[in-house]
Amino acid sequence: MSNKIIIAIDGFSSTGKSTIAKLLAKKYNYIYVDTGAMYRAVTLFAMNNNFVSKTSLDKEALILHLKNISLTFKFNKELGFAEMFLNNENVEKEIRTLEVSQLVSKVAAISEVRKKLVAEQQLMGNESGIVMDGRDIGTVVFPNAELKLFMTASADKRATRRYKELIDRGDKVEFNDILFNVEERDRIDSTREDSPLMKADDAISFDNSDMGITEQFDRICALVDRRIS
Ligand code: C5P
Repeated sequence: MSNKIIIAIDGFSSTGKSTIAKLLAKKYNYIYVDTGAMYRAVTLFAMNNNFVSKTSLDKEALILHLKNISLTFKFNKELGFAEMFLNNENVEKEIRTLEVSQLVSKVAAISEVRKKLVAEQQLMGNESGIVMDGRDIGTVVFPNAELKLFMTASADKRATRRYKELIDRGDKVEFNDILFNVEERDRIDSTREDSPLMKADDAISFDNSDMGITEQFDRICALVDRRIS
Protein backbone atom coordinates (compact mmCIF):
# COMPACT_ATOMS: atom_id res chain seq x y z
CA MET A 1 0.00 0.00 0.00
CA SER A 2 1.30 3.48 -0.82
CA ASN A 3 1.76 6.26 1.74
CA LYS A 4 -0.65 9.17 1.70
CA ILE A 5 1.23 12.47 1.71
CA ILE A 6 0.63 16.21 1.81
CA ILE A 7 1.36 18.04 -1.46
CA ALA A 8 1.79 21.81 -1.00
CA ILE A 9 1.58 23.98 -4.14
CA ASP A 10 2.45 27.66 -3.83
CA GLY A 11 3.21 30.33 -6.37
CA PHE A 12 2.20 33.52 -8.11
CA SER A 13 -1.31 34.30 -9.34
CA SER A 14 -2.63 32.34 -12.31
CA THR A 15 0.33 30.00 -12.63
CA GLY A 16 -2.00 27.04 -13.12
CA LYS A 17 -1.66 25.77 -9.53
CA SER A 18 -5.28 24.70 -9.29
CA THR A 19 -5.24 22.89 -12.65
CA ILE A 20 -2.31 20.75 -11.54
CA ALA A 21 -3.76 20.31 -8.04
CA LYS A 22 -7.09 19.05 -9.41
CA LEU A 23 -5.36 16.57 -11.72
CA LEU A 24 -3.20 15.28 -8.87
CA ALA A 25 -6.20 14.91 -6.55
CA LYS A 26 -8.03 12.91 -9.21
CA LYS A 27 -5.11 10.63 -10.04
CA TYR A 28 -4.12 9.84 -6.45
CA ASN A 29 -7.62 10.04 -4.99
CA TYR A 30 -6.59 12.89 -2.67
CA ILE A 31 -8.61 15.76 -1.24
CA TYR A 32 -7.99 19.04 -3.06
CA VAL A 33 -8.20 22.29 -1.10
CA ASP A 34 -8.12 25.63 -2.95
CA THR A 35 -7.12 28.02 -0.17
CA GLY A 36 -7.41 31.02 -2.51
CA ALA A 37 -11.15 30.30 -2.64
CA MET A 38 -11.29 30.71 1.15
CA TYR A 39 -9.59 34.15 1.04
CA ARG A 40 -11.87 35.09 -1.86
CA ALA A 41 -14.99 34.06 0.11
CA VAL A 42 -13.94 36.17 3.12
CA THR A 43 -13.40 39.06 0.69
CA LEU A 44 -16.87 38.59 -0.78
CA PHE A 45 -18.32 38.64 2.74
CA ALA A 46 -16.41 41.88 3.44
CA MET A 47 -17.64 43.42 0.17
CA ASN A 48 -21.26 42.46 0.85
CA ASN A 49 -21.05 44.12 4.26
CA ASN A 50 -19.26 47.23 2.98
CA PHE A 51 -16.12 46.47 4.99
CA VAL A 52 -13.92 46.75 1.91
CA SER A 53 -13.93 48.65 -1.37
CA LYS A 54 -11.31 49.97 -3.76
CA THR A 55 -10.82 53.02 -1.56
CA SER A 56 -11.50 51.70 1.94
CA LEU A 57 -10.91 48.87 4.39
CA ASP A 58 -12.67 48.63 7.75
CA LYS A 59 -10.30 46.13 9.28
CA GLU A 60 -11.78 46.30 12.80
CA ALA A 61 -15.33 45.61 11.59
CA LEU A 62 -14.21 42.66 9.50
CA ILE A 63 -12.18 41.20 12.38
CA LEU A 64 -15.20 41.58 14.65
CA HIS A 65 -17.40 39.69 12.18
CA LEU A 66 -14.95 36.88 11.37
CA LYS A 67 -16.81 34.62 13.80
CA ASN A 68 -19.90 34.95 11.57
CA ILE A 69 -18.11 33.52 8.56
CA SER A 70 -18.51 29.83 7.89
CA LEU A 71 -16.58 28.36 4.97
CA THR A 72 -17.21 24.89 3.60
CA PHE A 73 -16.26 22.97 0.50
CA LYS A 74 -18.86 20.69 -1.05
CA PHE A 75 -17.80 18.24 -3.72
CA ASN A 76 -19.66 18.66 -7.02
CA LYS A 77 -19.58 15.32 -8.85
CA GLU A 78 -20.37 16.86 -12.24
CA LEU A 79 -17.58 19.42 -12.02
CA GLY A 80 -15.18 17.00 -10.36
CA PHE A 81 -14.10 19.44 -7.66
CA ALA A 82 -15.38 20.97 -4.42
CA GLU A 83 -17.22 24.27 -4.62
CA MET A 84 -16.91 27.05 -2.06
CA PHE A 85 -19.85 27.78 0.24
CA LEU A 86 -20.00 30.94 2.31
CA ASN A 87 -22.52 30.65 5.17
CA ASN A 88 -24.20 27.77 3.31
CA GLU A 89 -24.50 29.65 0.03
CA ASN A 90 -22.68 28.49 -3.09
CA VAL A 91 -20.38 31.38 -4.03
CA GLU A 92 -18.10 29.52 -6.44
CA LYS A 93 -18.93 31.82 -9.36
CA GLU A 94 -19.06 35.11 -7.44
CA ILE A 95 -15.62 34.69 -5.87
CA ARG A 96 -13.91 34.43 -9.28
CA THR A 97 -14.82 37.93 -10.53
CA LEU A 98 -12.24 40.63 -11.23
CA GLU A 99 -13.84 42.75 -8.47
CA VAL A 100 -13.02 40.11 -5.86
CA SER A 101 -9.52 39.67 -7.37
CA GLN A 102 -8.95 43.41 -6.99
CA LEU A 103 -9.70 43.37 -3.25
CA VAL A 104 -8.61 39.95 -2.04
CA SER A 105 -4.93 40.70 -1.41
CA LYS A 106 -5.88 43.58 0.87
CA VAL A 107 -8.08 41.28 2.94
CA ALA A 108 -5.55 38.42 2.87
CA ALA A 109 -2.92 40.69 4.43
CA ILE A 110 -4.93 40.91 7.69
CA SER A 111 -3.32 38.64 10.31
CA GLU A 112 -6.61 37.75 12.03
CA VAL A 113 -8.05 36.56 8.71
CA ARG A 114 -4.96 34.44 8.05
CA LYS A 115 -5.03 32.97 11.55
CA LYS A 116 -8.61 31.77 11.12
CA LEU A 117 -8.08 30.30 7.66
CA VAL A 118 -4.72 28.68 8.42
CA ALA A 119 -6.26 26.91 11.45
CA GLU A 120 -9.09 25.57 9.27
CA GLN A 121 -6.62 24.45 6.59
CA GLN A 122 -4.44 22.64 9.10
CA LEU A 123 -7.49 20.73 10.38
CA MET A 124 -8.22 19.53 6.84
CA GLY A 125 -4.67 18.20 6.68
CA ASN A 126 -5.37 15.84 9.56
CA GLU A 127 -6.50 13.34 6.98
CA SER A 128 -3.33 12.96 4.95
CA GLY A 129 -3.71 12.47 1.25
CA ILE A 130 -4.25 16.11 0.53
CA VAL A 131 -3.19 18.53 -2.18
CA MET A 132 -3.49 22.15 -1.16
CA ASP A 133 -2.65 25.23 -3.21
CA GLY A 134 -2.11 28.82 -2.13
CA ARG A 135 0.65 31.22 -1.18
CA ASP A 136 1.85 30.01 2.23
CA ILE A 137 1.13 26.29 2.22
CA GLY A 138 4.74 25.07 2.18
CA THR A 139 5.98 27.85 4.45
CA VAL A 140 3.24 28.24 7.08
CA VAL A 141 0.30 25.84 6.78
CA PHE A 142 2.26 22.61 6.23
CA PRO A 143 5.98 23.29 6.69
CA ASN A 144 6.46 19.51 6.95
CA ALA A 145 4.65 18.64 3.71
CA GLU A 146 6.33 15.71 1.94
CA LEU A 147 6.25 17.48 -1.44
CA LYS A 148 6.38 21.23 -2.00
CA LEU A 149 6.08 22.87 -5.40
CA PHE A 150 6.56 26.52 -6.26
CA MET A 151 5.01 27.64 -9.57
CA THR A 152 6.08 30.64 -11.59
CA ALA A 153 5.46 31.94 -15.13
CA SER A 154 5.86 35.28 -16.86
CA ALA A 155 3.24 37.91 -15.95
CA ASP A 156 2.15 38.14 -19.56
CA LYS A 157 1.51 34.39 -19.85
CA ARG A 158 -0.38 34.38 -16.57
CA ALA A 159 -2.56 37.35 -17.49
CA THR A 160 -3.34 35.73 -20.86
CA ARG A 161 -4.53 32.54 -19.12
CA ARG A 162 -6.65 34.47 -16.64
CA TYR A 163 -8.11 36.73 -19.33
CA LYS A 164 -9.17 33.69 -21.37
CA GLU A 165 -10.78 32.06 -18.32
CA LEU A 166 -12.87 35.15 -17.56
CA ILE A 167 -13.84 35.78 -21.20
CA ASP A 168 -14.81 32.11 -21.63
CA ARG A 169 -17.25 32.35 -18.74
CA GLY A 170 -18.80 35.50 -20.18
CA ASP A 171 -17.22 38.26 -18.04
CA LYS A 172 -16.54 41.57 -19.76
CA VAL A 173 -12.94 42.42 -18.90
CA GLU A 174 -9.98 44.22 -20.47
CA PHE A 175 -6.64 42.44 -20.84
CA ASN A 176 -4.70 45.35 -19.36
CA ASP A 177 -6.85 45.33 -16.20
CA ILE A 178 -6.11 41.63 -15.76
CA LEU A 179 -2.39 42.14 -16.30
CA PHE A 180 -2.36 44.97 -13.79
CA ASN A 181 -4.31 42.88 -11.27
CA VAL A 182 -2.01 39.86 -11.59
CA GLU A 183 1.09 42.02 -11.02
CA GLU A 184 -0.49 44.06 -8.24
CA ARG A 185 -1.66 40.96 -6.34
CA ASP A 186 1.81 39.43 -6.59
CA ARG A 187 3.32 42.65 -5.29
CA ILE A 188 0.98 42.84 -2.27
CA ASP A 189 1.15 39.09 -1.58
CA SER A 190 4.97 39.08 -1.69
CA THR A 191 5.52 42.17 0.44
CA ARG A 192 2.92 41.75 3.21
CA GLU A 193 4.24 41.35 6.73
CA ASP A 194 2.33 38.22 7.69
CA SER A 195 3.20 35.09 5.68
CA PRO A 196 4.43 36.75 2.49
CA LEU A 197 4.44 34.68 -0.68
CA MET A 198 7.86 33.09 -0.97
CA LYS A 199 9.41 29.83 -2.00
CA ALA A 200 10.08 27.43 0.89
CA ASP A 201 13.74 26.40 0.95
CA ASP A 202 12.82 22.81 0.20
CA ALA A 203 10.23 23.57 -2.52
CA ILE A 204 10.84 22.54 -6.12
CA SER A 205 10.42 25.42 -8.60
CA PHE A 206 8.41 25.06 -11.80
CA ASP A 207 8.51 27.80 -14.40
CA ASN A 208 5.69 26.79 -16.69
CA SER A 209 5.77 29.80 -19.06
CA ASP A 210 6.61 27.46 -21.92
CA MET A 211 5.58 24.10 -20.51
CA GLY A 212 2.29 22.38 -21.39
CA ILE A 213 0.03 20.81 -18.79
CA THR A 214 0.89 17.25 -19.80
CA GLU A 215 4.64 17.73 -19.45
CA GLN A 216 4.23 19.51 -16.11
CA PHE A 217 1.84 16.90 -14.80
CA ASP A 218 4.09 13.99 -15.82
CA ARG A 219 7.09 15.56 -14.10
CA ILE A 220 5.14 16.27 -10.94
CA CYS A 221 3.63 12.76 -10.85
CA ALA A 222 7.17 11.35 -10.97
CA LEU A 223 8.00 13.43 -7.88
CA VAL A 224 4.87 12.22 -6.08
CA ASP A 225 5.50 8.57 -7.01
CA ARG A 226 8.98 8.76 -5.55
CA ARG A 227 7.53 9.91 -2.23
CA ILE A 228 4.66 7.49 -1.90
CA SER A 229 6.27 4.23 -3.00
O1 C5P B 1 -5.20 31.42 -5.54
P1 C5P B 1 -6.01 32.67 -5.81
O2 C5P B 1 -5.46 33.49 -6.92
O3 C5P B 1 -7.46 32.40 -5.96
O4 C5P B 1 -5.83 33.52 -4.47
C1 C5P B 1 -6.45 34.77 -4.31
C2 C5P B 1 -5.68 35.59 -3.30
O5 C5P B 1 -5.85 35.04 -1.99
C3 C5P B 1 -4.18 35.73 -3.50
O6 C5P B 1 -3.83 36.74 -4.43
C4 C5P B 1 -3.71 36.04 -2.08
O7 C5P B 1 -3.88 37.41 -1.79
C5 C5P B 1 -4.69 35.27 -1.21
N1 C5P B 1 -4.15 33.99 -0.74
C6 C5P B 1 -3.30 34.00 0.35
N2 C5P B 1 -2.86 32.82 0.88
C7 C5P B 1 -3.24 31.66 0.36
C8 C5P B 1 -4.09 31.62 -0.78
C9 C5P B 1 -4.51 32.80 -1.31
O8 C5P B 1 -2.93 35.06 0.84
N3 C5P B 1 -2.83 30.52 0.92
